[in-house]
This record gives sequence, C-alpha cells and structure tokens, in this order.
Amino acid sequence: MSDMQRVAPPLTTRTADFWRSGADGVLRIAHCRACNFYMHPPQPLCRRCHSTDVGFDPVSGKGTVHSFTINRYQWKPGMPPPYVIADVELEEQAGLFVQTNIVGVAVEDVAIGMKVAVEFEQAEEAFIPVFRP
Ligand SMILES: [Zn+2]
Repeated sequence: MSDMQRVAPPLTTRTADFWRSGADGVLRIAHCRACNFYMHPPQPLCRRCHSTDVGFDPVSGKGTVHSFTINRYQWKPGMPPPYVIADVELEEQAGLFVQTNIVGVAVEDVAIGMKVAVEFEQAEEAFIPVFRP
C-alpha cells in the first residue's frame, strides 16, 4: 500500500469487472477469446478481429516500466506528491500498457525497463492496480 487516499472510479458495465478483479489479488484484462488479443482500456469489441467474444481473463500481473513521469504537484487532495505515473507493459503482449502508479520505491529509483508486479489499492468497491518492483 502507498499512502494515497484513492478515489473510487465509476464502475460502469464496461469496466466494473476490471475494477473488481483485484479483490482476489489477480489482475484481469479484457481479452478476445477468438484471437487471443488483450485490450486495455477494456473494449467490448476486439479491435483486431472484431469478435464480440471478449471477457476479462487473468494475467500474470508482471510487467516492465515502459515510460514514466514523476508528478511533483498536488493535483488531488488524497495523493501527496511526489509519485510516479507510469505506462507498464504487461508481459502477456507487446504494446499492452496499463497506466498506473509505481509504489514501494523512491521516485528517483524508478527506471525504464524496471521489472514490476501488480498489487491493488482498494477504494470502495474498486481495486486499483498499482505496480511495485
Ligand atoms: Zn480478436
């Protein structure tokens, strides 16, 4: 856990299963079962093969920091700076990115190429995926 006070995201028909996924500690990503293609943010239609056979399936929760920025300004009351906003590329598929926070490490020590793994921070019904080295 970081010291952030998370605000729960809206749980819509399209996103609720994603946000609730972390309740059991497992990250689930929208996945086309017809052509084995992952999509994030979730989409109801596969953008590769146009199948509607898309559901949320478990992934390893392991990835690599692809890019990041250090936020040094207090934009939100519950999120004291500095903190890292990163694009983590999940190991399941090249180009499959989750925009997230990197926790459990000093912001100065975050680096492109760093291996990270998911954990979750709960906000009401939602489990927000964050990543830690
Ligand atoms: Zn597909």
